[in-house]
Amino acid sequence: MAKEVNLTEELKRNFGFDTFKGNQEAIIRNLLAGNDTFVLMPTGGGKSLCYQLPSLILDGTAIVISPLIALMKNQVDAMRNFSAEDGVAHFINSSLNKTAIDQVKTDILSGKTKLLYVAPESLTKEENIDFLKQVNVSFYAVDEAHCISEWGHDFRPEYRRIRPIINEIGVRPVIALTATATPKVQHDIQKNLGMLEATVFKSSFNRPNLYYEVRPKTANIDKDIIKYIKSQEGKSGIIYCLSRKKVEELAELLQVNGIRALPYHAGMDSATRTQNQDAFLLEKIDVIVATIAFGMGIDKPDVRYVIHYDIPKSLEGYYQETGRAGRDGGEGQCITFYINKDLQKLEKFMQGKPIAEQEIGKQLLLETAAYAESSLCRRKILLHYFGEEYEEDNCGNCDNCLNPKKQVEAKDQLCAVLET
Ligand code: ADP
Ligand code: MG
Repeated sequence: MAKEVNLTEELKRNFGFDTFKGNQEAIIRNLLAGNDTFVLMPTGGGKSLCYQLPSLILDGTAIVISPLIALMKNQVDAMRNFSAEDGVAHFINSSLNKTAIDQVKTDILSGKTKLLYVAPESLTKEENIDFLKQVNVSFYAVDEAHCISEWGHDFRPEYRRIRPIINEIGVRPVIALTATATPKVQHDIQKNLGMLEATVFKSSFNRPNLYYEVRPKTANIDKDIIKYIKSQEGKSGIIYCLSRKKVEELAELLQVNGIRALPYHAGMDSATRTQNQDAFLLEKIDVIVATIAFGMGIDKPDVRYVIHYDIPKSLEGYYQETGRAGRDGGEGQCITFYINKDLQKLEKFMQGKPIAEQEIGKQLLLETAAYAESSLCRRKILLHYFGEEYEEDNCGNCDNCLNPKKQVEAKDQLCAVLET
């Protein structure tokens, strides 16, 4: 059936877009042909459409497993806006009461629901599995699939139960999608989902408009940051700190220095958090000082700089966090303050966790430190980390390329960093 469909027409009719982005069309054709499909695409690349459009074309209901309850509602609302049909998309998660869930189930069984988002903790519930056994499933989409891997930045144990549950509900093609592309995570996902044979679609993770710089972290860091922000007047920026305490202190310090800044971390009550986030999105403030709790799913296209006050826990996290700059394709400066002794601080944070987790954490941290201490092209190292070779000798947009250090030193590091 896939051959008969004019996909561009379907795209236009259902979503109002004229053309596909990147690999979207090839991905969709592969899924429509009934193949397991693995999609590695950076954030903002347009992964959702890769399952949304096929769900509208195929018979039955596509089941989308996604960990982000807040985003689920956004996506379902967006789908409903596109569609004249009521009940075309639904979600099941812990935010729904019994009456709401009954309505969802009625719609699904009546056949009008093309897309059902399910939170992993709802998918593992016996009653939901029993219900889904009665459903004509078109395919399964596992979004944010890196949650399966302990090497990913957001491991969720329930994600490891997806394959057995699919087998129980009824085997159909699976499409797994993630913006986390390290070869280790990729292998983990494919193995765990039983899709080692899947067709893999990998987009480039290069973000040419982002400038990467690592600065030494000295006793003057606060002054350095204030000076930097003042040089970026009127522009939006995010500052990531490791601890909630530092977030609060720094936000206050910036305010005292006449900078429009607010804090954001998971320890604040949710009303204040939402308020501060909105103030940032609506540009009532210029700077949000945050822990990594800030940013997941936030789409502010014109963030002009991301500062890391402390070294991130992994290069993966670094890529995701810096990736929030310049999403509109315009300038984005990514500046990290680094001092070797912060590594011990981060290791201390890991104490008390299971040994295996600590080992993984240490390994990830060492890779980040190697990046920070390197005099090689930052872009090259980052992309290498994602299994991608960057061919240019000089990216022209990182500190090491713009201000090269001594050749000999760089050559030694080539072995140290790239031979991992
Ligand atoms: P991801 O999940 O990969 O981070 P999303 O699925 O959220 O990305 O899509 C990012 C943005 O791109 C959304 O605003 C979406 O509407 C838009 N988009 C997706 N596909 C297309 C397309 N073919 N043409 C134009 N915009 C698109
Ligand atoms: Mg997405």
